[in-house]
Amino acid sequence: MTAQFDDKCLFCLIVKGTIPSFKVLETEHSLAFLDINPVSEGHTLVIPKYHARTIGDLPDEYLAEVGPLVKKVALATGVEQYNILQNNGKLAFQHVDHVHFHVIPKPNEKEGLV
Ligand code: 5GP
Ligand code: ZN
Repeated sequence: MTAQFDDKCLFCLIVKGTIPSFKVLETEHSLAFLDINPVSEGHTLVIPKYHARTIGDLPDEYLAEVGPLVKKVALATGVEQYNILQNNGKLAFQHVDHVHFHVIPKPNEKEGLV
């Protein structure tokens, strides 16, 4: 697996450690960190350590590696109900052009409205 890096990409710089983040979990090819503007407590972003804009651009081996981490993060929140969101493209509300999965805990009816 050959990593792809973009030095102008916010999330690539988070992977590199140039931009700080609060890391939740990490594997060799994937990283989970807290969202800076959480929709609910524990809102976490899970990303492959590979610069691809959309899920369609992401090599399958990275997708296969990031999936189990998304699940692990969702279970680690300790909240039984949650949203997993993954936006592709501006019309779909993607703001950061590096594939990411949102894990958004739903601890009650009010928090985490998406
Ligand atoms: P999108 O709208 O692209 O699906 O989600 C991008 C997410 O990245 C947003 O929820 C936003 O709060 C988060 N985000 C943007 N900049 C930063 C940052 O510098 N650090 C962290 N941890 N999250 C960020
Ligand atoms: Zn990137």
